[in-house]
Amino acid sequence: MEQNGPAAGSTGRPLRVCLVLPCYNEEGVITRTVEVLLQRLDRLAAQGSVTADSYICCVDDGSRDGTWEEIERCATTTGRVRGIKLSANFGHPNALIAGLFTNRTKADILITMDADLQDDVEVLDTMLRHHHEGKRVVYGVRLDRKVDVLPKRIGAEVFYRAMRMMNPRTIRGHADFRSADSRVIADLERFGEANVYLRGIFPLIGYPTAEVHFVRKERVAGVSKYPIRKLMSLAWEGITSFTTTPLKMVFYAGLLTTALAIGLGVWIVWAVFNDHPNQGWASLAMLIVSFSAINIMAMGVIGEYVGKIYKEVKHRPRFIIETTTHGD
Ligand code: UDP
Ligand code: MG
Repeated sequence: MEQNGPAAGSTGRPLRVCLVLPCYNEEGVITRTVEVLLQRLDRLAAQGSVTADSYICCVDDGSRDGTWEEIERCATTTGRVRGIKLSANFGHPNALIAGLFTNRTKADILITMDADLQDDVEVLDTMLRHHHEGKRVVYGVRLDRKVDVLPKRIGAEVFYRAMRMMNPRTIRGHADFRSADSRVIADLERFGEANVYLRGIFPLIGYPTAEVHFVRKERVAGVSKYPIRKLMSLAWEGITSFTTTPLKMVFYAGLLTTALAIGLGVWIVWAVFNDHPNQGWASLAMLIVSFSAINIMAMGVIGEYVGKIYKEVKHRPRFIIETTTHGD
């Protein structure tokens, strides 16, 4: 079995960094983001933390606006931007793995962040310092959610609480702003699942890790691709791809209703023998309705998992690259 060796940063030499930016309809913001990030990389290179050829990889996730043309332009003008154009919209996590997997052998450290400058550029310095100290994964953790609307904040709170109950390794407040060394990405490649839930998978990989805290900013331009409806489906997706606790809950609901049914049975027998006539179609109707509701809900939860298995067994590719700006 291949061994993992020391952390990329433990040699003390500057690290070659690749910043992976997933871009879906980001024509209004991507050029500005590239500019800001290249400036930051230059500063880090001057401090000896990263190499001068550290670069940005923009993954165009099937945008319908001029994002790809902007990326191509950045690639030509700066020479330090690599563009990858996916053949369709494969979704944020798949765009991230496309960027990570295609750059794994080219960089020591791979950092994923939003293309809209919401993730704080300032904390890149701390992230890299942790890598130089031997950490292999550094998680960006949001300090507050002031920039989010109230329902999104409440939803996030409920989600993290539920998720932590089911999977204690969940990092509260961490989304997809993280850095990892290339060997960790090699390990990530071995998680071949179709329902890829990165914020859950990284904590499973292990190794020495660190957290950096930051305040999430407002989007520089453009609109969020995650309205509440999509966030709710992301949360459900996260739970069901990661834990079978909902199936256990179905089982417990079954146990509870069985206990109720037994109790009711005993009471009916007692009533017959004690001359209390059992009347009441209303209670009967109530029972039928509540038991049916539990049954149908249980089938829904089980169906969700069957659907997941269906998706997994097909082994469909998680992303397809249409073209790149650099020909490899
Ligand atoms: N994104 C993507 N594919 C999608 C949706 C979003 O690559 O199908 C990218 C998007 O361009 C952005 C990041 O994922 O860089 C996060 O999306 P967004 O900023 O809209 O989410 P929010 O920060 O509002 O939660
Ligand atoms: Mg964003």
